[in-house]
Amino acid sequence: MYDRDRDCPAQPGVKLGSRNDKWRDCATDRILFFEARLKDQSLDPADRATALKYLVHFVGDIHQPMHATGVEKGANGIPVVVFGSATCGQYNCNLHAVWDSGLLLHTGLSEPDYLHRLEKGIKAQHLSAGVDDPAVWTNESKKASDEAMLPKGAAVDEAYYTREIPVVDQRLELAGLRLAEVLNGIFTAPPQKFMPKHTANPD
Ligand SMILES: [Zn+2]
Repeated sequence: MYDRDRDCPAQPGVKLGSRNDKWRDCATDRILFFEARLKDQSLDPADRATALKYLVHFVGDIHQPMHATGVEKGANGIPVVVFGSATCGQYNCNLHAVWDSGLLLHTGLSEPDYLHRLEKGIKAQHLSAGVDDPAVWTNESKKASDEAMLPKGAAVDEAYYTREIPVVDQRLELAGLRLAEVLNGIFTAPPQKFMPKHTANPD
C-alpha cells in the first residue's frame, strides 16, 4: 500500500511536517499540486499551461503498473525475453519497457484504432472514473504490478500477453476517464470573477 511518509520524499531541504511540506516529490503528490496550479486563475497562463502538461503526464504515468513498483527500479532492472528476442530495438528488453510500449505494440493497432478499442471497452464495461484520489490509483497500479511481476530472464510470451493486455487496456481506460474528470472539474468550475455576458469580447 502507498504510504506517503515512506514513499513520497519531502522536497530537498524541506522538513517533514513543516509548513513548506504541503507538496512532496512524487507523482502521486504532484498530481494534486498541478491540479491546484491549473485551477489557480491568479497564476500566469504559461505556468498553468506547464501544470496542464505535467498533469496529463503524471495521471497517465501513475496508471502504468510498473511506475508504482519499487521492485528493481520500476522493473527497469528486470531483463526479459520478449516474444523470443532479448533485444528490443537497440536496447536489452526489460519489463518496464514491456509495459510502457511492448505489450501495446504487440496488438499491431494504430493509435486511432487503439483509441477506438479503448472507447469500446469503456462502453462495454460501463466503466467510470471512480475514486478521485491519486493514492488509490497508485495502489491499483501497485497491485497490478505485483500480479504481472516476472523474474529476471523470464519470457514475455503470448500467454503473458493474453493474460495482461486486458489489464493494460483497463489502466489506459481509467487513466483517460480520470484525466477527463479532473480537467472537466477544473475547466467547468464557475469563474472566480463574475463577468456579464454583454461585456464579453464578441469574438
Ligand atoms: Zn515508463
